[in-house]
Amino acid sequence: MSEKVTLLDKTFVKYINREEVDEAITRLAKEIMLEYRYDDPILLITLNGAVFFAVDLIKQLDFPCRISCVKLSSYSGTESTGEIKNLIGLNEDISGKRILILEDIVDTGQTYVHLYNMLMKAGAKDVRMATMTMKPDAYKADLPVHYVGINIPNKFVVGRGLDYDGYGRNLPDIYQVITD
Ligand code: 5GP
Repeated sequence: MSEKVTLLDKTFVKYINREEVDEAITRLAKEIMLEYRYDDPILLITLNGAVFFAVDLIKQLDFPCRISCVKLSSYSGTESTGEIKNLIGLNEDISGKRILILEDIVDTGQTYVHLYNMLMKAGAKDVRMATMTMKPDAYKADLPVHYVGINIPNKFVVGRGLDYDGYGRNLPDIYQVITD
């Protein structure tokens, strides 16, 4: 696999090897098992990007759990507040359940806060986040992120489910954009 990849108008350089990502996911699986082993949690996969991380993680979890896939659709609301995000796909009763959101990346934390509020309002017992990558310098939310695979700088990345305009999700390593 080459060190550089071009997707549409941008070039990316290999930044994190697949082995390092795999090790981080294995560590997360162990931490998650310790916390949730007896709790029958619901693992919430946010489509599309988190699918890759979720599959790698979930196959290492050796305890009973259910999996649900959700999508946050964005649409412009009629209010002047602008963009409203709606949760599609959560059809089960989550009241009293522990929810673990699985994400490919946490950036500002806006998506996490939004999901957290919606899930708590729907009666979840508690909601936590497990993310493959996180940009701590960009994070602005007050909620703790309990399970972080790899902290990365505030630069755009692709691979392992992360895309640039739909491309790059299939890259087995993580690539960082080259900015000049
Ligand atoms: P938030 O700012 O709400 O934490 O993240 C919003 C979304 O921005 C993420 O779920 C992800 O889809 C996207 N995002 C943020 N940083 C990156 C990045 O470096 N690469 C890619 N591919 N997506 C990103």
